[in-house]
Amino acid sequence: MPRSNDHDDDHDSSRATSPRRGRGRAQTSQAAPSKNQPLVVRAEAIDPAALDQDALRVISRLVRQGHEAYLVGGCVRDLMIGRKPKDFDVATSANPRQVKRLFRNGRVIGRRFRLVQIHYSGHIIETATFRREPDPTTNGSALDDLLIVEDNDYGTAEEDALRRDFTVNGLFLDPTEHRILDYVGGLDDLEARLLRTIGDPLVRLAEDPVRILRAIKFATRLGFRIEEGTWEAMRQHAPELARSAPPRVMEEVLRLLRSGSALGAFRMMRKCGALAVVLPALDEHMGPLESSSPEENERKERVWRLLEALDADVQRGGQPSNALLLAVLFHDVVERACELEGLENPTGVEWTEVACDVIDPVVTEARLARRDCVRARAVPFQQRRLAQAPNRRFRPLLFMASEEFEEALQLFRLRTAAWGQGWDVVEGWLERFEAAKAATAEELAVERRRSRRRRRKR
Ligand code: ATP
Ligand code: MG
Repeated sequence: MPRSNDHDDDHDSSRATSPRRGRGRAQTSQAAPSKNQPLVVRAEAIDPAALDQDALRVISRLVRQGHEAYLVGGCVRDLMIGRKPKDFDVATSANPRQVKRLFRNGRVIGRRFRLVQIHYSGHIIETATFRREPDPTTNGSALDDLLIVEDNDYGTAEEDALRRDFTVNGLFLDPTEHRILDYVGGLDDLEARLLRTIGDPLVRLAEDPVRILRAIKFATRLGFRIEEGTWEAMRQHAPELARSAPPRVMEEVLRLLRSGSALGAFRMMRKCGALAVVLPALDEHMGPLESSSPEENERKERVWRLLEALDADVQRGGQPSNALLLAVLFHDVVERACELEGLENPTGVEWTEVACDVIDPVVTEARLARRDCVRARAVPFQQRRLAQAPNRRFRPLLFMASEEFEEALQLFRLRTAAWGQGWDVVEGWLERFEAAKAATAEELAVERRRSRRRRRKR
């Protein structure tokens, strides 16, 4: 279990949550921090060769034109702890129009958060203008309503750092001098492997409850502990996730599922109350948090084991589709809903009706593709067919040619890995599938004709 899950007995309550704390680090800096001055240290932990050449090009052009520009966010955090960054983001004092004017390959995107994407062959450098505290009149109108709906007020580097979510995500790397600028105490927290919001966690999570899921993502991915005040605020504000845009919420949930640490992340989501808000059907299926019912505990254990199998698959390089992930989440939920309706052996139509009730609201709210929804309903249903030996009435060639077959077999394989039973069945299907790939269009047409004839007779 990742270190970051141990909230009950392993937390840090010794430090205040003010972004202005954490400057007590040894003065290895080139410039001593004073009021409104960042802590500045040489970026010794970072190999200059690990920096992205296109991002460096963007920064050097902006600086030559008299603007301030730094590498920011996840790339600085990852480089500091020896991980390979997913992407390189730039923050600058230049406004989007000025950036756009300097780069013919730049495109302005985003409404809630406007930025310029600078396109290079193969990848994009996102270049955002420094933000400041948003104007309250464009956001929540009541004093107690902090939810940010738009974040396009420009500011200074310091204001920008203070608007970011977690201290370890608030560091700036100035590549021209190869130094780190720390306005938020991120260096200390990186060293302590601690995830902490910048500023008051109650305010920062109320502004954007999706930060709760982001905290879980970073803590589980990096193996960081969540600071106590941040964790308490996560518990308090979890219900507020219902106010965030469902597509954003679902995007984070799918990221967690694909992270390779979905088990830790989902355990944490459940513990802080986020799972009950974002996937209520799954949370209910697992019973109350401290249930003493063996049946509920068994249902919960099945979910955990399936997520564990999913993690192992992702860690081996698997790239699960949205439909497969939804099927992983809802297979048992739909099975149980069928049982509760007295459908021991549901037909395809009966199954689809029950699955629609469970899966469709999630997919519709999150604006996922209809195609994902249809497959997410079909994939769990096909599990029975996979468990059944081929016979005269069941023509595996057609089944294997169906759109959802591969995902159905992937779910079957994950379930097999979770329970440790049924590998012979998986092997059998893999062999059959290999052989079926060689089937000609004519053979498939014959199978289809036979199947139609049999259906007519019935
Ligand atoms: P990853 O490695 O997953 O890309 P990241 O830290 O780069 O992690 P992004 O979602 O790419 O995360 O965002 C880039 C940076 O923008 C973050 O590091 C953080 O500083 C800031 N940021 C992103 N989302 C938010 C948010 N909801 N609230 C405040 N700051 C945010
Ligand atoms: Mg990123």
